[in-house]
This record gives sequence, structure tokens and C-alpha cells, in this order.
Amino acid sequence: MRCFSCDKLSIEPICKECQKEFLIPEMIEKEVGNLDIVSFFDYYLTVEFVKSKYISSGYRIYKFLAKKFFAPFLKAYVENIDCDKIYVIGIDENVDRGYSNVAILTHYSTKKNKKAIALHNVLKAQNRVQYAGQSLEFRLENPRDFIYKGPENIDAIIIDDTTTTGTTLEQAHRVLKKHNVNVHFALTLANAREGMDY
Ligand SMILES: [Zn+2]
Repeated sequence: MRCFSCDKLSIEPICKECQKEFLIPEMIEKEVGNLDIVSFFDYYLTVEFVKSKYISSGYRIYKFLAKKFFAPFLKAYVENIDCDKIYVIGIDENVDRGYSNVAILTHYSTKKNKKAIALHNVLKAQNRVQYAGQSLEFRLENPRDFIYKGPENIDAIIIDDTTTTGTTLEQAHRVLKKHNVNVHFALTLANAREGMDY
């Protein structure tokens, strides 16, 4: 197959050269409310991969990124915690485009992990107003209104593709807390600075 980014022949969906150029994990950390958000990459460097969610070839890009970065990170994390298992909850796994890029992240990041278990489709937004390019004020005035339908009294990690202001993750965190879900942290592919379009 060909590299998604440079079109050269490549065994992996993103070739080794492009991986070296764009996919060096930075582990950017920020705190919103009392939720820690960890992002692998700066949005600016990885925008073409993040935005692949809008096209069908995004399926293999997200699968690749989940296996390459999310899975080893979660494996290392669960080895060092006390609880028997931890659930991995994707933010609003909606399949409007034929697949959910977030569901791919949660599925392949936990696939070979006995301790981290994906909980699909349990956290849905009732309001899908576009946040792209919108201010923090707009985001706060138009909450996602998440509904949680998963088990209560569990430990969890939440996953999304991108965080900008952290508003979405913070809203999800608040809803989960009401169900006694102990969220250890949120994990996202990319961290975008506020005001960027995504
Ligand atoms: Zn390439």
C-alpha cells in the first residue's frame, strides 16, 4: 500500500519517514477542572491524520495510531495500578460516517489488554453542535449533554481524538462522576490550541 501522507510505497499506512517526521509522541499534559488530559501529539503536526476521520481511509489510520501509540501506553499504565480492571470509554462513538474513529481508538488500544476493557457506545452526546473554530464561551453555552449508560462504580480512562479547550472532556467527566465512575485521566491523540479549526 501507499503512505497516507507522502504516497510512497509503505507496509504501514504511514511510512517510517513520515512517522519520524510527524509522529514523535510529546505527551502534552493539561488539567481542566480536576481532570488530567494527556495528548500524544500537537494538533498542528498531525492535523492530516486527525482529519482522516472524515474520509474512509481514516479507518486504517486510526487503527494504526491506536495500535502504535494508545495500546502500549495503556499497557504500561495498567501494569502499575492497583485495580483489577479499568474500563476505557470513548467520547460519543457515533458512526455517522460509516465508522467511529473514537471506537477504533478504544477498540484497538485495549484489544490485547486483559486489564483494560473497552466499553463501547455508553457515553453519547445529545447535542452535536459543531465546536470547530468556536470560542470557549460558545462551547460552555452549548453543552454536549452527555448521557451515560454504562456500569457504575468503576475505574475508567476516557478517550477522544482531539482536545482543544478541554470542554467536551470536562463535561463527560462531570457526567461520569455522577455515576461513580472514577476517571483516572483522559487520553487524546492530539492537543489543539484554542481557536484552531478542527
Ligand atoms: Zn510517508
